[in-house]
Amino acid sequence: MRKISIIIPAHNEERNISYMVSELQKLFSDINYTYECIFVDDGSTDNTLNEIKVQHEMHHHVYFIELSRNFGKDRALQAGIEFANGDAVITIDADMQHPPRLIIEMIRLWESGYDVVYTYREKANEHVKSFQKVASKLFYKGVNMLSEIQMEDGIADFRLIDKKVVAELKQINEYDIFFRGMIKWVGFKQKGIPYTPAARFSGEASYSIYKLFKLALNSTMSFSVRPLYAATFIGLIFSLSSLLYIPYILISHFFGLIAVSGWASLIATVAFFGGLQLFVLGIIGMYLGKLFMQAKQRPNYIVRTTNLLGIPEELSA
Ligand code: UDP
Ligand code: MG
Repeated sequence: MRKISIIIPAHNEERNISYMVSELQKLFSDINYTYECIFVDDGSTDNTLNEIKVQHEMHHHVYFIELSRNFGKDRALQAGIEFANGDAVITIDADMQHPPRLIIEMIRLWESGYDVVYTYREKANEHVKSFQKVASKLFYKGVNMLSEIQMEDGIADFRLIDKKVVAELKQINEYDIFFRGMIKWVGFKQKGIPYTPAARFSGEASYSIYKLFKLALNSTMSFSVRPLYAATFIGLIFSLSSLLYIPYILISHFFGLIAVSGWASLIATVAFFGGLQLFVLGIIGMYLGKLFMQAKQRPNYIVRTTNLLGIPEELSA
């Protein structure tokens, strides 16, 4: 019988663990697959890990990977994907915002020959705050415009990946991997299905504005050097237009049109160009930073313990 590995990143989700396990159990009792639930405990400070261990005592197909600290969702997903050995891997949030019943549809599409079945939010409903709606719209617009991959608005980390795609993902040794983009980038036969997000079952979402901003920058820069071209282009436009401005000043000077006036425009121009230069330097600096981090070859995550089988002894819990 073929096996499905379900990977669930969990950061302070103590109240959602047992519910998730029971929902998956209900779901898989109807279909002809074996499965394993791999929870990745991403540096939770609450009782999440113990909850998972309790579930493991009752259900032997429940496993955990405990990361050594909070590494962020994408890295938690990466850890899960690297440890999973099912014929397909499904990643799903721990908070029940991704309706588990869609898994049936995903598996059906997988059986019909798709290698990746991903989901996107059909309509951001009342469970998503309006700030989040706007932020997410801008996020996808920006990323699509600036990079060479195209992502649907509201694409989610709820997806099924065939094991041959998983093998490719394991090969990628990239600092700060961004799965929503990476999955699109690897290609293969993909199918997107819409879903309507549910309310969080329990707890708080752990994304802040700052985290979203960082994610937007990171994900654009991981897939493209277009911001560098854009910076060069903007710089070129402004230096060309200032070239036009200089003759104007000289002519005005020789015809005696300039008295002491012009101070304000001078300051304005200096301030503007100062800002522009910093902006462009910032873009270049961020790419350099990425190169720096990549050059150090640090792992994206560190595992503290796990109860998965066939792993190095020092990690086993
Ligand atoms: N998550 C994680 N590490 C983090 C933040 C979140 O593993 O640093 C997990 C979290 O437990 C949940 C999923 O990622 O299973 C989605 O997180 P959340 O619900 O906070 O975000 P949103 O629903 O707003 O995308
Ligand atoms: Mg959520």
